[in-house]
Amino acid sequence: MKTTLVAGGAGFIGSHLCETMLAKGHHVLCLDNFQTGSIANVEHLIGNKRFEVIRHDIVDPIRLDVDYIFNMACPASPVHYQANPIRTMKTSVLGTMNLLGIAKRTGARLLQASTSEVYGDPEIHPQPESYRGSVNPIGIRACYDEGKRAAETLCFDYHRFHGVDIRVIRIFNTYGPRMDPRDGRVVSNFIVQALAGTDITMYGDGSQTRSFCYVDDLVGGITNFMECEGQMGPVNLGNDGEFTVKQLAEMVLDMTGSKSKLVYHPLPSDDPVRRRPDLTLARKLISYETRVPLAEGLARTIAYFRSHV
Ligand code: NAD
Ligand code: UDP
Repeated sequence: MKTTLVAGGAGFIGSHLCETMLAKGHHVLCLDNFQTGSIANVEHLIGNKRFEVIRHDIVDPIRLDVDYIFNMACPASPVHYQANPIRTMKTSVLGTMNLLGIAKRTGARLLQASTSEVYGDPEIHPQPESYRGSVNPIGIRACYDEGKRAAETLCFDYHRFHGVDIRVIRIFNTYGPRMDPRDGRVVSNFIVQALAGTDITMYGDGSQTRSFCYVDDLVGGITNFMECEGQMGPVNLGNDGEFTVKQLAEMVLDMTGSKSKLVYHPLPSDDPVRRRPDLTLARKLISYETRVPLAEGLARTIAYFRSHV
C-alpha cells in the first residue's frame, strides 16, 4: 500500500485530496498546523484505518516515510496570507524545503501547489506557463506571490541537484464546499453575505475578472498530474471560463434570491485586473477538462454554506 502525505490536508483543497487518495486505496497522512484549516473538514475520515492526522507546522523539520507528498500547506486567501506575511513566506520557503528534504531522503514524488499569483498582474492574457509574470516584489501580496515563486525554484533546484521527482501545478481561483466562510475570498464572501442578507462587498468597480474552478475538477487534475510520468510542469490547472467580479455577484444574488445590495469599496493594491488560465498544456499532458460549469458549482457551494454556516 502506498503512503501519501497531504500537507495542509485539513484545508479546503487538501481535505478533498485526502478523500480522493483514500478512495484510491492509499494510506493517507493529513498533516496540518490548523492555521486556516479545520479538523471539521476531515472529521468524517477519522476512524478509517488508512487515515491519520498529524498536527505539525511544515516550517519545522519532520521525519516521515512516504511515497507521495502533496504540498498544499499555505494560507491561500489574501486576508489570511497578509495577516502574518513573514510566516507566509516561511511556510512557502522553509516549509517547502523541509518537504523536499523528505522527498530527497525517501525518494517520494512531491507535488507543489503553486498559484496563478506567480503571474502577478499579468501583461498577457490568458496566461500560459511560459509567461514569467509581473509581480511587485515589495507589495502586500508579495509574501504569497514571491514565496510561491521561491517554492517553485526550490522544487526545480532539488530536482536538478538531488534528482527529486517533482510535479509543480499553478492553481487558479478554486471554490467549493469546505471553503472557510471567514477567509475573505470573493466566492465565499458573496455567498455568505447573500445568505445573511448583508451588503455585498464589491472591491473596485467589479470589472476585474477571475476564472473560477470547482474543486472536484481541480482535484481530478491534481491527482492525474501526480500520476503523469515524465512531466514536472509547471502546469496551469483551473477553469478557463472568465467572469467579472460583478457578474459573479449578480449570479450569487440571483441564485440565492437575496435582496442584499452591492456596496463598493476601494480595490486592494496590486489586485490583478484580469486572470484566466491557458490550459493548453494541461489538456495535452493529462487530457484535462473541467466538467462543472460556474452555475452548477455555485449551486453546490451555496447548498453547502446554507447547511454549514
Ligand atoms: P486553505 O487555507 O484552506 O488550506 C491550507 C491549509 O494549509 C490549511 O489547512 C492550513 O491550516 C495549512 N497550513 C498553512 N500553513 C501551514 C504550515 N506552515 N504547516 C502546516 N500546515 C499549514 O487553502 P486552500 O484554498 O485549500 O489552498 C491549498 C493550497 O492551494 C495552498 O498552498 C494555496 O496556496 C494553493 N492555491 C489555492 C488556490 C485557491 O483558489 N483555493 C489558488 C491557488 C493556489
Ligand atoms: N473581491 C471583492 N469582494 C470581496 C472579496 C474579493 O470584490 O468581498 C475581489 C478581489 O478584490 C479580487 C477578486 O474579488 O479582485 C478575487 O478575490 P479573491 O480574494 O477571491 O482572490 P484573488 O484576488 O487572490 O484572485
